[in-house]
Amino acid sequence: MKEEYLDSLFSRMSNLLEEMGAPLPSVSIIAEEDNDPYRILVSTIISLRTRDDVTLSSSRRILQKAKSIDDLASLDTQEIEELIKPAGFYRRKAQDLKRIAQIIQSEHGGMIPDDLDKLLALPGVGIKTASLVLNLGFGIDAVCVDCHVHEIANRLGWVCTKSAEETERELRKIMPQRFWIPLNELLVRYGQYVCLPISPLCSKCSEKDYCPKAGVLKSR
Ligand code: SF4
Repeated sequence: MKEEYLDSLFSRMSNLLEEMGAPLPSVSIIAEEDNDPYRILVSTIISLRTRDDVTLSSSRRILQKAKSIDDLASLDTQEIEELIKPAGFYRRKAQDLKRIAQIIQSEHGGMIPDDLDKLLALPGVGIKTASLVLNLGFGIDAVCVDCHVHEIANRLGWVCTKSAEETERELRKIMPQRFWIPLNELLVRYGQYVCLPISPLCSKCSEKDYCPKAGVLKSR
């Protein structure tokens, strides 16, 4: 992929989002306030299958009560549930968060690891969560692909893939590294406000003249 093309696409999409007044994704807001990897890890886990406004309020509640891994480990699972609900799968996430805190204390000296494999070994942590912690918490280049990034990369014809994991591998091959970190925030926001999962707003989109709209059956 040509850097000039990506520079102008990033700028066109960002300008449109600004004109629309689209807020940042919840985890980006948390990271802007303080990019401590612990905060990114907790809020990204809460964000899975959860609306952005719920993610933000649940993350704020638990991060206010548990300011560190040690604080989190000292809470019991029911307390964590109460703090993060109504996030999707809050019971399962509460168990994972408790277990993660214990593992980080016992195996990583209380520090969130800045290593993909060590992050992936934590309960409830998949490639998306691990990549976002590396990106936003440590400033380490990684391609973080969620459902929006996967869908838009396919619609724009960058990749032709069936899963987020495949998209992540393809984008790492074809996309210059300096775009890896900003990609997630841009496309998550774009997917929430313009390139909607069902019936994207193609008539308003900054890319309407260039996008092949691959796989789009209905648009506005
Ligand atoms: S033209 Fe439509 S499908 Fe293509 S990026 Fe824009 S909103 Fe998405």
